Amino acid sequence: MSKPRPFLGPEPVDGPYCRNCGAVADIHYCPVCGQETAIEMPTVGHFLSELAEQTLALQGQLWTTLISLLFRPGQLTVDYIAGRRQRYVRPLRLYLALSIVFFAILGFTASLSPEHFFPRGERAEAAQTSAAGPSGAAAAEPVAEAPPDVPASPEAPVKPSDPAAGSVAANAEKGGLTVNTGYPALDARIQARFDTLKALPEAELSATIADALFSYAPIAIFFTLPLFALLIGIGYLGLRLNYAVHLLFAINYHSFLFFLLLVELLPIPSPASTLLALTIPAYLTIALRRVYGGGWGGTAFFSFLVLIVHMIVVALVMSVSTLLTLAFPL
Ligand SMILES: [Zn+2]
Repeated sequence: MSKPRPFLGPEPVDGPYCRNCGAVADIHYCPVCGQETAIEMPTVGHFLSELAEQTLALQGQLWTTLISLLFRPGQLTVDYIAGRRQRYVRPLRLYLALSIVFFAILGFTASLSPEHFFPRGERAEAAQTSAAGPSGAAAAEPVAEAPPDVPASPEAPVKPSDPAAGSVAANAEKGGLTVNTGYPALDARIQARFDTLKALPEAELSATIADALFSYAPIAIFFTLPLFALLIGIGYLGLRLNYAVHLLFAINYHSFLFFLLLVELLPIPSPASTLLALTIPAYLTIALRRVYGGGWGGTAFFSFLVLIVHMIVVALVMSVSTLLTLAFPL
């Protein structure tokens, strides 16, 4: 038997060396990489106890983190800065995990109940238009300027135009849709796409819009997070802190936000849902005070300011990204 046994790796080194990284390790765990130093040939029992150990450690970490996140606003940020990190799930990992779970459940519930995203009247209108037929032909030709004026059939329920919906919906009752982004080429593209969408059967239409909302929503929230951190940084400019501190604060705050949104996805009574939404300004105020100090009044005022600006930015990014997704499907 001259053949070497490469799958078993190099022969064990004598002496107090880490098998994983080669550092001097004369204690139970390697001081450099953290691997255990006593290595034996694997057994099934060893695998199982390793799994149990790691799962329990992870669970302990998760509970410690969630309790701190929910009941001690700002504490995760304070502890991270103070160097108390190992006991918690790291900030970015917690944020990513919570947002992934949130969007997974959101996508799941959305596919179950399209009515939630499509009020009955609108769906009826869309169905009427698709039944009428000619809009399908109109979609084939590129729309240059004015959309073909298709008058709504008299029995079609006319929905009063919603002033909040902006310039896209403003001319919706004409039967066509006028988009004005200031870029004619983009307008034509969106226009043509919307005409195609109107010809879709209602189930497919609602699925397409739900897809558009969810495909960019995580990205939209990602892009607004650094902006949120910037807002906080501007508020506490006098403290001369690193931007990363504000980013850390923003990440932890968003973890809380996603947890709250997750709870809101559950079938809870609406008073409870309203109550939960009201905790947001309170949470932000307490968190800001714990991390940055300052008085209650000033911090509460600053919290409201930040929340309002943040809400406007998120709404803006969401609507633009949804519009773009509808025009340029992924
Ligand atoms: Zn090591």
